Amino acid sequence: MAPAPGKSCGSCTMCCTALEIPEFNKPAGPPCEHCIASGGCKIYTSRPQLCRDFECEWLTERTLPATLRPDRVGTILMEADDTDEYRAVCSPSRPNAWRHPQVFAHLVRIAKTGRTVVAKAGLNSWRIFASGEWGPTI
Ligand code: SF4
Ligand code: SF4
Repeated sequence: MAPAPGKSCGSCTMCCTALEIPEFNKPAGPPCEHCIASGGCKIYTSRPQLCRDFECEWLTERTLPATLRPDRVGTILMEADDTDEYRAVCSPSRPNAWRHPQVFAHLVRIAKTGRTVVAKAGLNSWRIFASGEWGPTI
């Protein structure tokens, strides 16, 4: 899938920071060693295929507004690659970012479509339900 019209990662490096990248032995939290502090990737033109392939939901979904860019809300909206969950993965430094009103409203909308919606922050995770209720996963 390609980025939605008018969208680009810009200075966002949330997926290079908040996500665990086993291929790089990178845990969730610290930035990848190739991150530029002001945003971007030092090895952008030669970055691994893994990095080329990753696109978060914000980047590809045209209906998600600029205000939901992951670095702005501290949350990456994404499809899980190991389950059918729709996920909100929070920056470890902002573990409650999924409760940002705009993020939460989006998660409830997705839950209403019948998807399993889970917010994650480090080792903690919460299920968000179509009713607007939420609670820790077991
Ligand atoms: S989290 Fe999304 S917008 Fe941010 S750098 Fe990754 S793909 Fe781009
Ligand atoms: S190599 Fe570049 S694109 Fe890939 S995780 Fe590191 S900083 Fe991000």
